[in-house]
Amino acid sequence: MSTVIHHFSDLDRTGTWLKYRNGLCDSCMATCCTMPVEVKLRDLVRMGVVDAFEAEAEEPKQIAKRLSKARIVEQFNFKHGIFTLARRANGDCLYLDAETRRCTIYEQRPDTCRNHPRIGPRPGFCAYRTK
Ligand code: SF4
Repeated sequence: MSTVIHHFSDLDRTGTWLKYRNGLCDSCMATCCTMPVEVKLRDLVRMGVVDAFEAEAEEPKQIAKRLSKARIVEQFNFKHGIFTLARRANGDCLYLDAETRRCTIYEQRPDTCRNHPRIGPRPGFCAYRTK
């Protein structure tokens, strides 16, 4: 049986974050999915928003332009080839289901999401918030 901890992290103050442990996500409202997500071209290919041919043939800048028009990407760092995924007005990631608070592309999600919270603003801690 899992116990639900009542905790209200402040996303902007990592000092209030909780030490991550297995099962924590089950009772969390997915606060981590409201942070800006930086992705690489290979993530966008896995997510199915850029096809492999386009990734080879097209300039990343052109791809960024298209994805920004489609409101999938909100920023592109040309120097590092890093795209920032767009968010909804309330801060939610585009791919977060507003009702279930679950990722709708979980199997294809970007590396940044896979690595969180091992790699992140405060490694090993997350902005846990009960549903
Ligand atoms: S892609 Fe999925 S796991 Fe990553 S921030 Fe968006 S909803 Fe969360």
